[in-house]
Amino acid sequence: MAESDALPGAPAHGTLTGRLEWDTPMYRLAVGQLDRTAARMQLDENIWERLRTPQRALVVSFPFRRDDYDTVDTVFGYRVQHLLTMGPTKGGTRYDADLDLGEVTALSMWMTWKCAIIGLPFGGAKGGVRIDPTTVSASELQRITRRYTSEIIEIIGPQKDIPGPDLGTDQQVMAWMMDTYSQQMGHAVPGVVTGKPVEIGGSLGRTESTGRGVVTCTLEACRHLGLSLEGARVAVQGYGQVGATAARIAGQLGAKIVAVSDVKSGIHAPNGLDLKQVDAWVREHRFLEGFPGGDAVSNAELLELPCDVLIPAAIQNQITGRNAGRLRCRVLVEGANGPTDLDADDVLRERGIFTVPDILANAGGVTVSYFEWVQDAQQFFWTEEEVNQKLVLIMQRAFREVLAVAEEQKVDLRTAALMKGLARVREAKRRRGVFP
Ligand code: NAD
Repeated sequence: MAESDALPGAPAHGTLTGRLEWDTPMYRLAVGQLDRTAARMQLDENIWERLRTPQRALVVSFPFRRDDYDTVDTVFGYRVQHLLTMGPTKGGTRYDADLDLGEVTALSMWMTWKCAIIGLPFGGAKGGVRIDPTTVSASELQRITRRYTSEIIEIIGPQKDIPGPDLGTDQQVMAWMMDTYSQQMGHAVPGVVTGKPVEIGGSLGRTESTGRGVVTCTLEACRHLGLSLEGARVAVQGYGQVGATAARIAGQLGAKIVAVSDVKSGIHAPNGLDLKQVDAWVREHRFLEGFPGGDAVSNAELLELPCDVLIPAAIQNQITGRNAGRLRCRVLVEGANGPTDLDADDVLRERGIFTVPDILANAGGVTVSYFEWVQDAQQFFWTEEEVNQKLVLIMQRAFREVLAVAEEQKVDLRTAALMKGLARVREAKRRRGVFP
């Protein structure tokens, strides 16, 4: 690799050379986090280098027919499996107009750490299609999903790689993926995806699981800092599956939700928003824009509002070296993947803003996906209370274990969480050895 191309912080003896196809800003963030932590914990360089790149990356391009029947458009699709050591791989499916191999690769790495931190028998994966899902009809979305599934069918399966939903995909998309896979196998295979509707093998509590995990971590963070969530001001960026659920549950626990936002804009009410009214508005108007019960704010302004807890739950790269100095929260809980860049991490640490990192805070989703996979394998389904109770216990334990590492090693929670995940992966790799 040319000197100028080399990513800073790589292991000294690195042997992977040449341009990395997935080298994008988001990949650099994920690998930068890995490098910082691997250097700190003096991770075995052989393992460190292997973990900097995905084990398997599939890029496909495929056509889909538009509703007018005559127009056929071609799009890119991806499925990246970062680590096959721990069991099948697991990770969401993202539909986004700007999706690229670097983004999918970064997300697959974060999935590896999440599964290892929680102790799930999975390695990380991620996939998706470069398409804006809001610009296609439901029937076009179905055709895209079915063709995408058949393009990646060789590398997915309940024992191989299990997709789930992510940004821009939902239960219905998972149902189409499950059906397409099952049609090819000749029998129903519910365990091939998670995040499905309950009627076809989905788990109760899956839709709310990530938001519930975010709130569990928020409660634990508050307890650690001697704060109370009751009466605390909470601002949430992104009012989707994760953000809206986190806002609702935090509200039920007595927090004051002072701001929420979506892709277009946000709303702010210093005395707290009435979320029932917000939900009714969104059901009718789709977006928050124009909601009468609060002042309009931009997504950038929302991040800088005075609050006790800030929950970014939309997209990556929102808190950077440029705005981290202006955040006015006490606790930052990352619902989204990769919302904070490396420069911002340094600023937040200096400013004493307690940050619960994405790989811990939003791991509730993959935890209940794991429950779903277990239930599908056993064909024995749990009640919602069982799912929620088990989820909360696992998230509390993970938080406390990561906090213990942070205190012992005198590092921030992101570094501690990564240390814990990397230690588990390292031991698994040592035990399995190198083939042949
Ligand atoms: P979603 O599609 O249900 O909701 C996303 C929300 O963010 C929507 O309100 C959308 O309008 C808003 N948004 C989209 N683009 C935006 C932009 N450019 N600026 C501001 N807001 C924007 O998605 P989700 O499932 O809630 O996922 C949100 C985040 O959480 C993503 O980073 C995802 O990777 C992460 N995550 C999701 C899960 C899960 O189980 N759904 C699990 C772990 C992590």
